[in-house]
Amino acid sequence: MKRIAYKYRIYPNTEQKILFAKCFGCVRFFYNKSLSDMNEIYKSTGKFKNITPASYKEDYSFLKEVDSLALSNAQLNRNTAFKAFFSHKTGFPKFKSKRNDQSYTTNNQGSVKFSNNNRYISIPKCSRIRIKKHRGFDGIIKSITVSMTTDNRYYISLLVEEENKPMGPANKMIGLDLGIKDLIVDSNGKKYKNQKYLTKSQNKLAREQRKLSKMVKGSNNRNKQRIKVARLHKHIQNQRNDYLHKLSKHIIDENQVICIEDLKVKGMMSDSKIARNISDVSWSRLVSMLTYKASWYGRTVIKVPKDYPSSQLCHACGYKNSITKNLNIRKWTCPKCGSIHDRDINAAKNILSKGIEMLTKDGTHPDSLFMLGSLESSSKKPPLL
Ligand SMILES: [Zn+2]
Repeated sequence: MKRIAYKYRIYPNTEQKILFAKCFGCVRFFYNKSLSDMNEIYKSTGKFKNITPASYKEDYSFLKEVDSLALSNAQLNRNTAFKAFFSHKTGFPKFKSKRNDQSYTTNNQGSVKFSNNNRYISIPKCSRIRIKKHRGFDGIIKSITVSMTTDNRYYISLLVEEENKPMGPANKMIGLDLGIKDLIVDSNGKKYKNQKYLTKSQNKLAREQRKLSKMVKGSNNRNKQRIKVARLHKHIQNQRNDYLHKLSKHIIDENQVICIEDLKVKGMMSDSKIARNISDVSWSRLVSMLTYKASWYGRTVIKVPKDYPSSQLCHACGYKNSITKNLNIRKWTCPKCGSIHDRDINAAKNILSKGIEMLTKDGTHPDSLFMLGSLESSSKKPPLL
């Protein structure tokens, strides 16, 4: 089973907006009040006291008006944050501010329903909210989060439990080289460009951010500009995620075994320009998508070690050419066998060979890598990641 969040824009009417505002307010009130009270108790007694919403309902009767599960969820979140603080993992939990995005989460106890051809959704304590259901899902809704952004847009996020559905085995394997100019280059010689529109949007973002920094703090214009910048940020995130989702799904559809290099991001981050590009292409997100989708669909992702010199080895004869450590060398001729290499394609081929070597070193025949829908279920466990 896997849990996926599906987020949709909703268009609540005035009455529904009031109801949501109450929920946001009560959740925020309970969260902040109990956090501060628990902190006082902790200071005086040295003990963690789990304050429940019920204990405030007498004194603050408005808490009785809203979905009690929303308050229970706030209690859970608060405890998680508090416990992380106690175990010195994080700082003291942040109080919720009116100025940020607002939200509350409730559970589905069977009352969530779509109606009028999916144009409306009903959730606990609030029925028939206009929704733009741009994509469907096939599973059980576990929880519902209603949110409002600082520019007054409303969203609903449904956490859905879905079954893993392994696809039939594919009969191909692939090696991927993660790059900067091209997001990935594969062992078949195919190059997936880093998306230019992202750079475009990013330049625009930089421009708007500069504008923002020059504006007078607390002014109306600055507030408007802040919202504009936040929207651009979201837009870039969405564009990138869409692209990475499509790309990772395509690779998973086509291949049974996917070999990638373990990321070398740390070493490269020192160069700020490269670092920006790395964040732009979001390698780590792509790798994580490939990894979890592989587990859903019965594919294998294998990571070759960081120190494996995929760019330096000649794929044809194995000669190690240290000159290629220089990132500017895009094409090279092997001094030993004379093969002419495109730097990235050669690297991708080496990554594939290394991955297969790792998967078969226990004696597994390469053909048997295709036999099972999922290698995870075979008795000889390959080094899965
Ligand atoms: Zn060679």
